[in-house]
Amino acid sequence: MSLSVSSSPGHGLSSGDGMRRYSPIPYRRGPFDYEPSVLCQCGRKAALWISWSDDNPGRRYLKCYNARSGGCNFMGWFEGPIDEFIRGLLVDLRDTVWGLKRERVELKAALADAVVKMEQLKEEISALKVENQALKAANKTSAQKPLMKTVLLIGLAVPAAAAAAAVFMRLG
Ligand SMILES: [Zn+2]
Repeated sequence: MSLSVSSSPGHGLSSGDGMRRYSPIPYRRGPFDYEPSVLCQCGRKAALWISWSDDNPGRRYLKCYNARSGGCNFMGWFEGPIDEFIRGLLVDLRDTVWGLKRERVELKAALADAVVKMEQLKEEISALKVENQALKAANKTSAQKPLMKTVLLIGLAVPAAAAAAAVFMRLG
């Protein structure tokens, strides 16, 4: 374990660009799961974090656990510089994970929009169904008039046919 307090642990860590603040993968271990303990200037065990900066991806560093809330400025690398090939590889993997996470957020938002649109369409469809039923009912009432004519015609035709049949029977 080499410790160089002079080096800064990655500018990418505190960058304002939303996703860049987050580690691409969750840490397997908590910030205090290391031995032997290194104490910060407050006399407390320093927290072990992982840098995801462009210059030092995957490189661990020690920092005062309360650095953001009134702690000290203690900071130091936990291990030596990252191999150049591994550095490039980790940066590419980091960017791929961040890209996929961003895409996932966008897809979730698009899906939520699609669900809202689908619900609106469902409402429109049920409104149209109601309208359609009303139109069908109105259509039936107007279709009943010709039906009454038919009944009337049958009413006239049946006695006429009976009369004709009676004539034929007499003739036969
Ligand atoms: Zn401290």
